[in-house]
Amino acid sequence: MTIPFPQPVCRLIDRIDQAGYQVYGVGGAIRDLLLGREPKDWDLCTNAFPQQVKAVFGEDAVRLTGARHGTVTVLWEGRSYEVTTYRQDGPYSDGRHPDQVRFVASIQEDLARRDFTINAMACRPGEPVVDPFGGQKDLEAGLVRAVGDPVRRFQEDGLRMVRALRFAAAYGFQVEEATGRAAEELSFRLEGVSAQRIGKEWEGFLPAPGAGKQMGAFPRLMSQILPMVLLPEEDPARVWKELGERIDRLPAEALVRLGFLFCRKELPPSQRMERAAGGAAALALDGENRRFLLELAEGSTSPLPASQAGWLRWRAQMGEGQLEWVLAIRREGSGTPEERAAIQAAAEACRKALAACPCRDRRDLAVDGRCLAALGVSPGREMGALLERLLEEVWAGRLPNRREALEEAAARFLAERR
Ligand code: ATP
Ligand code: MG
Repeated sequence: MTIPFPQPVCRLIDRIDQAGYQVYGVGGAIRDLLLGREPKDWDLCTNAFPQQVKAVFGEDAVRLTGARHGTVTVLWEGRSYEVTTYRQDGPYSDGRHPDQVRFVASIQEDLARRDFTINAMACRPGEPVVDPFGGQKDLEAGLVRAVGDPVRRFQEDGLRMVRALRFAAAYGFQVEEATGRAAEELSFRLEGVSAQRIGKEWEGFLPAPGAGKQMGAFPRLMSQILPMVLLPEEDPARVWKELGERIDRLPAEALVRLGFLFCRKELPPSQRMERAAGGAAALALDGENRRFLLELAEGSTSPLPASQAGWLRWRAQMGEGQLEWVLAIRREGSGTPEERAAIQAAAEACRKALAACPCRDRRDLAVDGRCLAALGVSPGREMGALLERLLEEVWAGRLPNRREALEEAAARFLAERR
């Protein structure tokens, strides 16, 4: 089968060809096209060295992003492409980058360093796929299989174990048996891998359609990545299987699914925030995502609002999207059918409350500081308290959000106070 290369990639390949070097499209793009999917980006590999690639495209079009490892970024027809010299990797002793790379002469040798057979294929326009490890067969069978001996490959770089789950989850594949066994047995090898690298793969893994199934199938790996999800006496195999079943029913968003893991009812509420903070560190979440995760953990432990105004206060605090996530987390976290029914009823009350009152915060009130100042309200604390009180009245349905009604009520509240 020949692969439909996009025209800009054909022209890019042509240019390198004309300079007298070998060049192939490689890795994810070839895999995705064979699966009938649109590739996210294109990687090319070549026997040219970084400086030679630079000479082909000129100073301005090339960034020597990872030239030490053989990778340059080429800006071509408005997009950027990673072009990497054929290489083999040395050990990853800092868990981040190979210590040294060795440039090699042939595409076959380059493909041998790649993680999985489905990622170890290369191709040129109009030519058959270079597939020395049976990647096409594994794509058809839906298998993620290590290139070579899985034990050795995971010892070289522990991150590959997480990548195996990410690809299996994304494509609805299975991790091939020997590869899967090696991943469970060597899960402790993740210890030396940087939180950034794990976090990045995890972010791709968790929202994927098959995440729950892989979670259940790889409990040791899961416990290695996020040990703080479990209590010491719990059986990881049972817990991760149950969590996996529930996670698939949550929205396909990494953060909401991650938040759910820290809101299990077995975890004492007083520990959830701290455990979520540990999870944020284990995955090197940035400040914003960390804050958001902690808010989800918090929102999932506080008592549910009992009134319309209570729901509207939650909406004002966390926004509508996050409020829905908190409810989804609580629904999937609930145990008994009664608990589920209660959360279902709460979600219905929430929906009604939000629909009944479009007024989200003070800025949506039909009066503002200027109208109230005209009634003699002094700016600052008095003004703030009065606006807050009017908002609560509107939320509770005791006042309509209309200017005259709010002004009249404001005058009344002021008179009461003075
Ligand atoms: P995606 O479409 O999700 O980006 P991808 O296959 O392009 O998938 P990348 O992480 O972008 O994945 O890596 C590009 C290619 O580099 C892979 O297809 C694989 O051949 C190789 N590769 C990446 N990481 C590793 C690794 N840790 N060990 C071995 N090979 C790797
Ligand atoms: Mg990629």
